[in-house]
Parts: sequence; C-alpha cells; structure tokens
Amino acid sequence: MPTLSRADQEQFDKARDLIETAPRDIGFAKSMFFGRIKSEMVLPYPKQADDEVRRTDELITRLDAFLKAEVDPDKIDAEERIPQHVIDGLAKLGVLGMTVPTEYGGGGFAHSSYCRVLEHIAMHCTSTAVLVGAHQSIGLKALLLMGTDAQKKEYLPRLARGEIIAAFCLSEPEVGSDAANVQTSAKLSEDGSHWIINGEKKFATNAALADFMTVMARTPVTDEKGKTREKVTAFIVTPDLPGFQVVSPNRSKLGIRGSWQATLKFTDMKVPADRVLGELGKGLKVALSVLDFGRCTLSAGCVGGAKKALAMAVDRVKNRRQFGRTLGEFHLVKKKIASMAETVFAMESLTYLCSGLMDNHADDTMLETAICKLFCSEGSWQVIDDALQLWGGEGYMRQHGLERMLRDARINRIVEGATEVMTAFVSLVGMKGVGEGLETVMKSAKHPVNNFGRLAQFARTQWSDVVIGHELDGLHDKLRPEGKALGELTRTLARSIIRLLGTHREKILDQELIHERIAWSAIELYAMAAVISRLQAKLEPVNGNGHSNGNGHSNGNGNGNGHGHVDRDMVVGRAYCLHAAERVRRRLSDLFDNEDASILCTADAVLEAK
Ligand SMILES: Cc1cc2nc3c(=O)[nH]c(=O)nc-3n(C[C@H](O)[C@H](O)[C@H](O)COP(=O)(O)OP(=O)(O)OC[C@H]3O[C@@H](n4cnc5c(N)ncnc54)[C@H](O)[C@@H]3O)c2cc1C
Repeated sequence: MPTLSRADQEQFDKARDLIETAPRDIGFAKSMFFGRIKSEMVLPYPKQADDEVRRTDELITRLDAFLKAEVDPDKIDAEERIPQHVIDGLAKLGVLGMTVPTEYGGGGFAHSSYCRVLEHIAMHCTSTAVLVGAHQSIGLKALLLMGTDAQKKEYLPRLARGEIIAAFCLSEPEVGSDAANVQTSAKLSEDGSHWIINGEKKFATNAALADFMTVMARTPVTDEKGKTREKVTAFIVTPDLPGFQVVSPNRSKLGIRGSWQATLKFTDMKVPADRVLGELGKGLKVALSVLDFGRCTLSAGCVGGAKKALAMAVDRVKNRRQFGRTLGEFHLVKKKIASMAETVFAMESLTYLCSGLMDNHADDTMLETAICKLFCSEGSWQVIDDALQLWGGEGYMRQHGLERMLRDARINRIVEGATEVMTAFVSLVGMKGVGEGLETVMKSAKHPVNNFGRLAQFARTQWSDVVIGHELDGLHDKLRPEGKALGELTRTLARSIIRLLGTHREKILDQELIHERIAWSAIELYAMAAVISRLQAKLEPVNGNGHSNGNGHSNGNGNGNGHGHVDRDMVVGRAYCLHAAERVRRRLSDLFDNEDASILCTADAVLEAK
C-alpha cells in the first residue's frame, strides 16, 4: 500500500468523518446523482394533519397580533437589541418551546409548523427570527436529539418555557468554514469526574443571554484497537461554570442587528462528566444533525423575507406611474416580477418539502437541507434586491423597510455554511455516491490502475439504473412535460458526472468551478421536483371525491401555506420549471466547454501581483 502524505491523510480523515455521518439508504437528492428519481420520496407533497394545521394557524394569528403590537423591527435594528418584553412575549405564546415534546413542557409541534412560525416572524423582524432560531433550531436541538433523559429533564422544561435561552457554539477564531478543525480542547480530569475545557468561541448567537450552550470541543478518543485520535465532542456548558467568560457580548454589524453574537473564553473550565451530549467523539455528527434542522428553518426565514419583498414590489409597480404608465407595464419590470415570483414559489416548495422530511424522520436529509439552504439564502437575497430596485430611490430610504431587509438577508449566504462551501459540499457529497465514495476517488490517485478499473466497472454496472426509472410516477397530465424534463436532465446529470469522474478522477476534489455547475444543476432539479410535487398536490382531488383543490379553501401544500391561487401557482410553478431546466441544460453543457482556465489565470495574476 502506498502511504499517504500526512496532509493528505488528515484531509482524508476529515472527509471520511463527514461522510461517515451519511446514512446508508440514500435520499432523493443523492439518488439524482445516479440519474434516479425516487418518486415516493417527493410525492405526495407533505401534508400535515388538519389538527396540526389548525393549532398552528391559531398560534400564528396570536403571534401576528403580538408582532404588530409589541415588536418594532426598526427600533430593534437601531438600538441593536431585542427588548426583554419581546423574549417574554414569545415565551408566553409558546414559540420558544414549540418543537419541544409536551412531556418536557413544550408545545410538541411538528418541524413544519415551526418553519411556518419562523417564516412569519422573519416577515416581520429578522433579528427576532434569528434569536428564536439560534435558541430552538440549533441551541437546544442537540439536547433534544441526543440528550439523555436526565439531561432533557434538567434543561428542556426551562428552555421550552423560555425561562432560559440556548446557544450553539461551534465557530472559533480559526474555525469557520472548516468546521472539523475545532481547536477548543477538553481533557478528562484524573479522577474522571469532570472535563477541563480550554479555548475560545466566536460569533455564538444568543450566547451572552444564554444559560444553556452546546459547545464543541476536541477530545482524545481511543478506539477498539487502542489507537487514540483527537475527535470533536459536544458538551453542555452553562455560564456558572468556573473558567467561563463572556469576552464580548456582541459586535455591531451590517444586519440582523438586534441579534447578539458573543465571543467566549474558557480557561480550565470544569464541566461535569455527565454533560457530554451524545457519544464521545461524535460531536461532528451532532453538529451536522443540528445543522440539518438549522438549515431548514433558516430557509423558512428566507421564505418570509422574500414573500414580503415580492408583495411590496407587486404593490409598488401596480401603483407607481412613470412615462404615463404604471411600472408594472414595462417588460423589464415584468421580467423581474416573474423571476421573483418563480424563485419565491420554488423556495417555499423546497422548504416545506424538506420540513416534511424532517417530520417524517427521513434518514438521509443532509443533501436536501444543504440544497434548500443554498437555494433559499441566494434566492431571498436576489428577490429582496430586485424589490429594492423596483422601488427605486424610495427603496433605498430606511422608512420603507426594504433597506433593512436587504441588510438582514445578507447573513444567510454566510452562516450555517457559506454559499461557496455549501456549493462544493453538495457537489462532492452527491458525486461521492457515484464514485463509490470520495474514498475511492481519492485513493484512485494512489492506485491509478486498480481504482480507475473500479470506477469503470461502476459506470458499467450502474448504467442500467441511470437509464431506468427516470420520471416522476403518476403525475397529473398537466405536469407531464415538467416531469419529463426533470427525468431527462437528471439522467444527463448522472452521465455528466460519470464522464467527469473518468476525466478528472481525484482532481475533481479541487475543481470548484465544476462543483458549482454540478451543485446548481442538482439544486435546481431538486427544486423542480419540489415545485412539481406541490403543484400535483394542488391539482389532485381531495378525499377521493373528485373535488379539486382549486376551490381556494384547501390546504394545497399540506402546511397551511397554500390556500387557493391554483391557476396562478400553476403558471408560476411551471414557469420556474421551464427556466430552471434551461439553466440546468446550460450548466451541464458548460461542464465540457468553458472558459474556466481563463478565470483561474486572471485570478492568479491578481493574487500574485505585488
Ligand atoms: C451574524 C453571525 C451569526 C453567527 N452565528 C453563529 C452561531 O450561532 N454559532 C456558531 O458556531 N457560529 C456562528 N456564526 C459563524 C458562521 O457560521 C461563520 O461565520 C461561517 O461558517 C463562515 O466562517 P468564517 O466567517 O470563518 O469564514 P471563512 O471560513 O474565513 O470563509 C470566508 C469566505 O471564504 C470563502 N470560502 C471558505 N472556504 C471556501 C472553500 N472551501 N471554497 C470556496 N470558498 C471558500 C467563502 O466565500 C466564505 O464566505 C455566525 C456568524 C455571524 C456573522
């Protein structure tokens, strides 16, 4: 066996740690990389029980009244703080513990219901949505998912009631996008009674307000063979521990100014031994599971902001007159409105498809939630920017709120996986399956003949899968063309990947310009699947009595967000599919005929210039 260099081995180990967290039964998104469409994973579109929809509707009605009366987003933005009465009000409404099971004093709501609530909060005040999300989507999520019963009993009731606030602390001065590189260290005391943690955490949302923190630290872990490796472990940290310090509660920033990000320092901080969250050395798995939920709810927040911006843009262009006509009569304005509406519809379709997966405890959602986060964070930024443009000079003025919404939306492209990092992630995780795992592709560098043989064999044996089962089953006649395009393009994606792997082999790992085309093809194909599925739900008869959902009263997308507008939704959704398919076709064709070399050459010239 040829030996790997130390650097290669480290990269390889990190990649394997990440990949090992993927379950065996692959989901819809990963299957697309094989050219397969797993219809049963996107059809029917998730539908919540009527009772759940009703009680969420009731909560949203009370929440909306509270937000209008008590939450002033401009004041929160200007004063850079969320007043205590806002936190208390959210707690009283049950929002801060809505996903916590009732046995621990929470509301026992489904994840989709929580997403609907976050969407509404984000529509009104993004800073407040961030506080709620940092508390419930990520802060207490590891406790909920991996905590022991004793840990849950100790903390969950107070967290659910909003008496204490939670935070999630992964980032450090040297740990950003490379999340596996955690430097904060935890060592077990000699008597085994506690862990001694040293290190610094950065950007921890809510941490200065929090009485409960999920903290990632590096611990020595010995495997069955007696080999000791440093691995990440999750700990419960509370601010009363000796050695805990808030270095700075918050720093002034561009947007979401009411939310606070703390810098923390741990100096020989003693954490009782029973405060390990989940298994020792499985902190990365904890973090990735938590981020699955975080990315889905972050997307719901993006949907809220984008929906509001679209509504504001529509209102403006229908009423503002220039050159003797309303703005909405000009074709370049129509183009923006159409594109905004398509994007918002696809964002919403993706978000509630993913939240449905979480509610059904689907096994393999890592790729789906990453795709959802990427699409929604980029989409909301574009939609809000377009709305501001259509508002012209007035859009730039603070009083209308679009200026704040644009600043607030910017962070979504950085947190919980920056766009570029997530783009490479989606592409590599997807392609990993096709190449029998990154491991094989990486190893093929060291065993060019053997492993390329395995790749070629893979291409032959999987080819039949690539060309069968490539359409969504049982689609309504009206959606057949979209289903057909999805099938054809998914097959082209898989064929392109096999060709790429054969051409680039291990070098594919660093080819981010290729990753971008592959990732955004997969993202838009998955978004098409979500849109088609949601439209199908709107067209399908309800209760088997032949009455269509087109009566404006039914719950077309199954989560209470889809009342009526079937005709408009059909136009918008089908237009999204048409344009998305065109973009995917272009990206896949550009894979093999592009000007990438010139881009890299230009960047190198700039980077090397003195
Ligand atoms: C307002 C706010 C709230 C936050 N809340 C939390 C929180 O609650 N808990 C927590 O743990 N962290 C939190 N963070 C941290 C956040 O998750 C990180 O900022 C994010 O992961 C990016 O890391 P970084 O800032 O170190 O950027 P870097 O890792 O330095 O990356 C900078 C940029 O480089 C590019 N880049 C990086 N790697 C690659 C690559 N492989 N390929 C191509 N391009 C690349 C990307 O454009 C990226 O945006 C928060 C940050 C902010 C600003």
